[in-house]
Amino acid sequence: MEENILLMYTHMKNYFKIILLMAILAIFNSCTYHRSKDVKNVIYLIGDGMGFGAVTTTLLTHEQVTGFEMAPVVGLQETCSADNHVTDSPAGGTALATGTRTRNGYLGVDPEGKQLTSILKKAQKMGKKTGIVVNTTLTEATPAAFYAGVKSRNEGYKIAEQFVESGVDVAIGAGQSVFIDRPDSLDLIWELKKKNYDVYLDYKYILGTDSEKYVAILPMSQVHRRNQPQGSRSALDGSVIGKATMRAAKGECIKEDTIDISNPSEYLSIAATRAIKALEKNGRKGFFLMIESAIIDGYGHNNDSEGMKLEMYDFNNTLMLMIDYVNKNPGTLLVVTADHETGGTGIAYNQHEVGKKSKVQLNFSTKGHTGTVVPVFAYGTGAEYFSGVMKNTDIPKRIELLMKNDRHTRKNKL
Ligand SMILES: [Zn+2]
Repeated sequence: MEENILLMYTHMKNYFKIILLMAILAIFNSCTYHRSKDVKNVIYLIGDGMGFGAVTTTLLTHEQVTGFEMAPVVGLQETCSADNHVTDSPAGGTALATGTRTRNGYLGVDPEGKQLTSILKKAQKMGKKTGIVVNTTLTEATPAAFYAGVKSRNEGYKIAEQFVESGVDVAIGAGQSVFIDRPDSLDLIWELKKKNYDVYLDYKYILGTDSEKYVAILPMSQVHRRNQPQGSRSALDGSVIGKATMRAAKGECIKEDTIDISNPSEYLSIAATRAIKALEKNGRKGFFLMIESAIIDGYGHNNDSEGMKLEMYDFNNTLMLMIDYVNKNPGTLLVVTADHETGGTGIAYNQHEVGKKSKVQLNFSTKGHTGTVVPVFAYGTGAEYFSGVMKNTDIPKRIELLMKNDRHTRKNKL
């Protein structure tokens, strides 16, 4: 009898042990599930003026699979401003940064001139580190829409002052003239240093820095090859693929020291990688990084077919690196889009022999912007919320909801 009771007791003990173990496993699984669905880091990659013509030329000039083709989610975005079907960069940037359409010319303020709050500022309030990487000036319209508020993009000196107050942790771009030798003799480099920023005025310093809070304000010649003579631009045909792109396509690890730092065409890839290295030191709360490839727009304005192809080649290199990061870092969302299309860019008629490659030529219908929809590509955690047809203002709103990781709100509002 006693033996039976003892046996029953042992069975019960084992039974409870199994129940307890199953309960622990269930809790662990649900935590893991929720963690994998939470958006911790956001990378917002904007191609200024990057419409369907620009994207198509990338597809046609690359033999390997491009970053665009790797997108699990693709959508369309209406780019209008508050007062025009055709937006300019200040209003386009404002829509993508704040979720509000404004008048052309206005930057970071609503049509009445009231200051708006950008998604970058909201990320800061959530405790995330924030970064801006551009291949133009840090005070240009698109990056400025994330931290400034002015009624004209031409107020560069004022925008630079607003940048100093922005609280952005890492910023890499050009535009020294509005920070140094100002007519009001304010020394904004000194003001940045007073706010505990390390300030770098040459590209080489960002490559080795361990700083978690720095501003790199570089000469334009270091951030973009458009400032180099035409002849020194490397030629691009269908067989030329960047080293970084090749490695990313093969799934290999990309390290910044494997990229040619002397070539401004590699600048955006390297700067983005360096910024992430500093921002990810934040640990649990993650980061928000805005990257702008600004000069696609310039080549569209100039109707420069070869320039746009080169620029899109660089853009794809940066995109491949970011996809690589997303794949290795669950909890990272990458959204890629444009503020508007420039040039009315299309692919020119070019009949060629079957099975043979031929040179891709772009044609243009305007020297200005157009009001056509632009593509949206999304990768990583939360990417599924960027499919279908959206307004430019929907994108930051959706990023905000995903950063809040509020499933109830997300379900009802997206
Ligand atoms: Zn433009």
